[in-house]
Amino acid sequence: MSFIVKLPESVVSCRNLVGGEWVVPREASHLDVHSPYTGGIIGQVPLTAPDGVAQVVEAAKAAVPGWRATPLRERTALMARFRALLEANMERLAHLAASEAGKTVAEARAGVLKGLEVCDFALSVQNLDTGGAMEVSRGITCEFRREPLGVVAGITPFNFPAMVPLWMFPLAVTLGNAFVLKPSEKVPLTACVLGELMVEAGFPRGVFSVVHGGRETVQALVENPDVRALAFVGSTAVARRVYADASAQGKRVLALGGAKNHLIVVPDADESFTAQSVLDSFTGCAGQRCMAASVLLAVGDVQRILDDVVERASRLELGGGMGAIIDRASLERLEAGIATAERAGARVLVDGRGKKPAGEPWAGGYWLGPTILDGVRPEMEAAQRELFGPVLSIVRVPTLSAALEVENASPYGNAASVFTTNGAVAQAVVEGSRVGMVGVNVGVPVPREPFSFGGVADSKFGHGDITGASGVDFWTDLKKVTRKWTARTDGSWMS
Ligand code: NAD
Repeated sequence: MSFIVKLPESVVSCRNLVGGEWVVPREASHLDVHSPYTGGIIGQVPLTAPDGVAQVVEAAKAAVPGWRATPLRERTALMARFRALLEANMERLAHLAASEAGKTVAEARAGVLKGLEVCDFALSVQNLDTGGAMEVSRGITCEFRREPLGVVAGITPFNFPAMVPLWMFPLAVTLGNAFVLKPSEKVPLTACVLGELMVEAGFPRGVFSVVHGGRETVQALVENPDVRALAFVGSTAVARRVYADASAQGKRVLALGGAKNHLIVVPDADESFTAQSVLDSFTGCAGQRCMAASVLLAVGDVQRILDDVVERASRLELGGGMGAIIDRASLERLEAGIATAERAGARVLVDGRGKKPAGEPWAGGYWLGPTILDGVRPEMEAAQRELFGPVLSIVRVPTLSAALEVENASPYGNAASVFTTNGAVAQAVVEGSRVGMVGVNVGVPVPREPFSFGGVADSKFGHGDITGASGVDFWTDLKKVTRKWTARTDGSWMS
């Protein structure tokens, strides 16, 4: 077998990180954590009850006064230590994230690299965001100060065990907040290592906490009055609910949801470059990423490009070239989705059902090879619903306007890309697509820092984006200060 993922050698028991100590939450039930590669148990995770959540938030709250009073430069120095530890532990984290999420090691490594980039941005805040002051009238100055919110929380999905938490906490913590991470219960092991590294970096107790669990744990965070802000990344149904519930509690909320991304391929696109980009986009992370291509809008005659995609997908090696599906339920949902599309009239050009990598250890894993459906119509489920797997639906359209019409009709608005060698076509898609992130000849148009990440419509609830300058605004309040140190009363209408 040509791929190597080092699964944990023994079952890892996850604990909560509370006030700098690793503790087993009281009266918590536990779930087994399975590796998608083998189906075997690699860990156990507690489902923290509301009492345990209150304990974590209490410890975080205790850290707030000291941490917010720590100068930004000192907070930044600790984040620089964490960044160094993150880099030094890259391989360990990559193998762990791959083991629990089913990614290839290279994909998991890329998630950590993106995390390092967010750290770099957080480290730069001390030089970029110096506040502002101005003499607004004779003898009177106005200035603004950025102030942390206090205790904030991040709730993250299974598909990026390192990267999505790292979208959030380097910035939130550097800006002076105490951050509580609630990782997905499907991938809790990587989060524990992130916690270990934060402790090792020397952050004061309670500045970074980990609380494990599922729905009930999230609800307790949503209802806790001491949690001032909540960032969520996950499916649209849950994002919508968390956004509504937490907003109703008066919290600042940003909730990123699911996606149904369109790749538009026009006849002038470069054949082999486009074919490989399409393949990488829908099979990367086994299609389990919110930026994955899901629908290919084939404009006019692009048959030679489609044939090339089919040929490349048929050759892709499971395991080395593409990872596994997170769990059995997701695999069954995907297989059912393919069968539904077939019944609705789609043709299966490449069928990934029943495919597995060769070799005994992987036999119990959750595998689906790349799958390509042709003849999908815009109203079919395969063109509308987020499948979240390596399934590409080809919808044939006569014109670019027809392609944009299909794209615009999607309730989601995460990403879209066009493949073309024509600048006017590219510009029409940049302007005409209804998404937060658009690509030109880029299959996975993830903005690099400091450009912020976030979709629109049903792919994001709340204002602003999760990283970059938008993140600085999300994790802070702006306090405006007006000063007068003179007894002069002339020349100003200000009292
Ligand atoms: P999910 O919605 O099932 O879970 C996300 C988080 O919410 C987890 O921590 C989970 O424990 C918690 N949760 C689950 N059900 C809940 C409920 N009923 N109430 C409260 N909390 C609940 O998502 P997932 O399956 O882990 O991740 C895949 C989804 O995330 C996909 O839809 C994908 O598109 C989306 N995603 C979006 C982005 C983005 O940036 N927009 C990034 C990554 C993943």
